[in-house]
Amino acid sequence: MSTHHIDGARVPSRGGTIAVEDPSTGETIAHVARGDTADVDLAVQAARRRADGFRLTTPADRGRLLRALARALDGVRDEFARLETLDTGKPLSLAHAEIGGCVDYLDYYAGAADKLHGETIPIGPGALAFTVREPVGVTAHIVPWNAPLSMLCRSVAPALAAGNTAVVKPAEQTPLTALRFAELVLEAGYPPGTVNVVTGLGAEAGHALAAHPGIGSLTFTGSVTTGRAVLRAAAEHITPVVTELGGKSPQLVFADADLDEVAAQVVTGFTANTGQYCDAGSRLLADRRIHDELVERITARASALTLGPGIEDRALGPLVSADHHRRVSGYLEIGLSEGARLAGTRQEVPDRGHFFAPAVFTGVTPGMRIAREEIFGPILAVAAFDNEDHAVELADATDYGLGAGIHTRDIDRALRVAGRVRAGYVMINEYFAGGVAVPFGGTKFSGTGRERGLVALDSYLTLKTVVARVGPSCG
Ligand code: NAD
Repeated sequence: MSTHHIDGARVPSRGGTIAVEDPSTGETIAHVARGDTADVDLAVQAARRRADGFRLTTPADRGRLLRALARALDGVRDEFARLETLDTGKPLSLAHAEIGGCVDYLDYYAGAADKLHGETIPIGPGALAFTVREPVGVTAHIVPWNAPLSMLCRSVAPALAAGNTAVVKPAEQTPLTALRFAELVLEAGYPPGTVNVVTGLGAEAGHALAAHPGIGSLTFTGSVTTGRAVLRAAAEHITPVVTELGGKSPQLVFADADLDEVAAQVVTGFTANTGQYCDAGSRLLADRRIHDELVERITARASALTLGPGIEDRALGPLVSADHHRRVSGYLEIGLSEGARLAGTRQEVPDRGHFFAPAVFTGVTPGMRIAREEIFGPILAVAAFDNEDHAVELADATDYGLGAGIHTRDIDRALRVAGRVRAGYVMINEYFAGGVAVPFGGTKFSGTGRERGLVALDSYLTLKTVVARVGPSCG
């Protein structure tokens, strides 16, 4: 697999290779190409050539192609789910669900391809003004490792629907499904060069892509630190950038909520994908009156979760790498040294692989690092609030503003708090509610973009305005 996928062909690596491991065992399962600036340039040129032809296809044909790709992926779900599981360590059923979500992205945006209307704007007699939404050309997609194919399809599907081509740089830890996807794109009937994949390190291939002058739009999904570097690199060529960054999302639980139901939601919120979702509900803010009882129910549930290799499909897989394991484990020390307390017990972890058992910290105050920083592992930071104002104040006490969960039976309170918290995505009484049709994205350090829904198409289109003087009748 040590090749890029450029212009419909497997292009060998010139800069050496990178080992890819199975996080469940720590064993190397593949080597992929370590792309450099020249590889990225080759891919952008191929995408550029193809973009010139692709923009001339009819919107209906673009929809048909995307639908064919959806069917092709649907037909090989098992293969992709297994590959994603091997590469990320996530439980097989979760990988299956994510691949199902990829099919949904392709189907949803297939339906949108021929509905990308402009507007006519009345500006008075003797003139006609209208807007046209045109493809931007070559779109670049820099993808993280936590949900590799899902994040790829989330941005590539609307980019293709809008008539663009794509160059994808998957994360170095998890490049396998992206490479296989590029082949599937060809199998579904797209001409070579439509979707190109360059593998490699972020500072090399990723930077080269962000800094390339031939990119019409760049979608970056990853951490805040890298997001800043990507924005700086893209600034040189005024490349528009969609940033989808990290989170430290709170779950606010009011005293009238159904505590059993909420405990289940909170545990799913902070442990799903072993805490490696950007919108993980990694902070619990609980009404002081129910705090102790809720923490008890949460720790009981969390400590009952089974851990094991993704392919065995237990509740939790490993963290993605040894480096990430060290980073997440470090927050246990940090939390204890800051004065927070570990609640309940933590289960044993398998000997091999990068496993990490869920941990719940109580007595967390807003100044603590475990309350403010994205850990990206199954560690929950719990604090109590005294009233609604206090809950909102605690919820907003981080630099992030991605998700927020609100649990209450009082609809007035739910909608009031939804209006007050600074978050891009608010979920009431169901954490992770939503789907492909609803816009997703953050405020503050969580980013500037919106993915999913029809609004996401705007990032892959440029708006042209045409104003015409209409002469008087000559008859
Ligand atoms: P990361 O920022 O380390 O890497 C993301 C991608 O950027 C990778 O492909 C990497 O190779 C590349 N990269 C690294 N340095 C680069 C550089 N200098 N120039 C260009 N590209 C570079 O992030 P990660 O650790 O892979 O992913 C985890 C992060 O992603 C978390 O912060 C998580 O919250 C975030 N995330 C956000 C969303 C969202 O929708 N908001 C979704 C998934 C993940």
